Amino acid sequence: MSSTKTIGIIGGGQLGQMMAISAIYMGHKVITLDPASDCPSSRVSEVIAAPYDDVDALRQLADRCDVLTYEFENVDADGLDAVIKDGQLPQGTELLRISQNRIFEKDFLSNKAQVTVAPYKVVTSSLDLEDIDLSKNYVLKTATGGYDGHGQKVITSAEDLEEANALANSAECVLEEFVNFDLEISVIVSGNGKDVTVFPVQENIHRNNILSKTIVPARISDRLADRAKAIAVKIAEQLNLSGTLCVEMFATADDIIVNEIAPRPHNSGHYSIEACDFSQFDTHILGVLGAPLPAINLHEPAVMLNVLGQHVEAAERYVTENPSAHLHMYGKLEAKHNRKMGHVTLFSNEPDNVVEFGKGIDF
Ligand code: AMP
Repeated sequence: MSSTKTIGIIGGGQLGQMMAISAIYMGHKVITLDPASDCPSSRVSEVIAAPYDDVDALRQLADRCDVLTYEFENVDADGLDAVIKDGQLPQGTELLRISQNRIFEKDFLSNKAQVTVAPYKVVTSSLDLEDIDLSKNYVLKTATGGYDGHGQKVITSAEDLEEANALANSAECVLEEFVNFDLEISVIVSGNGKDVTVFPVQENIHRNNILSKTIVPARISDRLADRAKAIAVKIAEQLNLSGTLCVEMFATADDIIVNEIAPRPHNSGHYSIEACDFSQFDTHILGVLGAPLPAINLHEPAVMLNVLGQHVEAAERYVTENPSAHLHMYGKLEAKHNRKMGHVTLFSNEPDNVVEFGKGIDF
């Protein structure tokens, strides 16, 4: 029997494209479902151009592929359940449902995986905000549909309540205590349904709520780094994880608090393409195929810089001046403001000296 598989990827953005590249290196064939026939994955795979909730298109993908996966969590889980055959989506739709809704996600993290999250409560209307203790700070987040800081309101005083009440009355929310973290970190973990493998701890610097720079290894103590990795492994084991998952966390002076999970390769793991012996995309493909997973080694400390639409020229100039930096461009046709167009990875022991594109210029 041939070990070559046809892998169907739902979503043909940069994550789907980089998954496809890993799969192709391993000899597999890839078919992508994406609304845009000229999406980034179209450079490396066949594309079925249809909306993500088009059940006929999902069925066509399922019929033509051995295994299905997705590059983002807002996939129509019911639509997928309707078309997949047994075992065809190793990641399952349960994980999708958990990561699509912050209420399910918090419940899973705190009660099933039993990891530390910020103290929270479910908010179904502004009535639930009436008795909050304003000596503390909070973040109110919509349960669904939020991303990159959208659908969120920080509450630090009574003045914030008007907007918070409006948000609470517009959608189901969770109210989290504000965490005074030292660093934002994340850990990539991959599973094959039986075993897991874990990547080094990443330190993430955001600007305007968009990831701007990732530093690996994160500048935290070995004790906290081990704890962060153990938490990621615990979550992966609780899920019988297949494929790659990113666990986003806050590092305080003496603790690690889980913020959220993304059931797919993540922007903060892109450095692994050059800086580790296997990338988060390689282990994603191995994982969804149920293949044995390698231990992950970091070759050298690395920094990844995101290239947004307004940074393309600066990034191109940067790599002509620093030819040992690796430029990735995703092949997006239009360089819109704040759109992720590519990234740069380089090895550096002095991450503070690696300046983010647009720093001091962008706002
Ligand atoms: P999220 O959409 O949950 O990833 O939140 C976006 C950003 O808001 C995070 O990257 C943090 O910088 C910040 N944030 C979210 N939740 C909290 C919290 N409970 N305490 C402090 N900052 C937070």
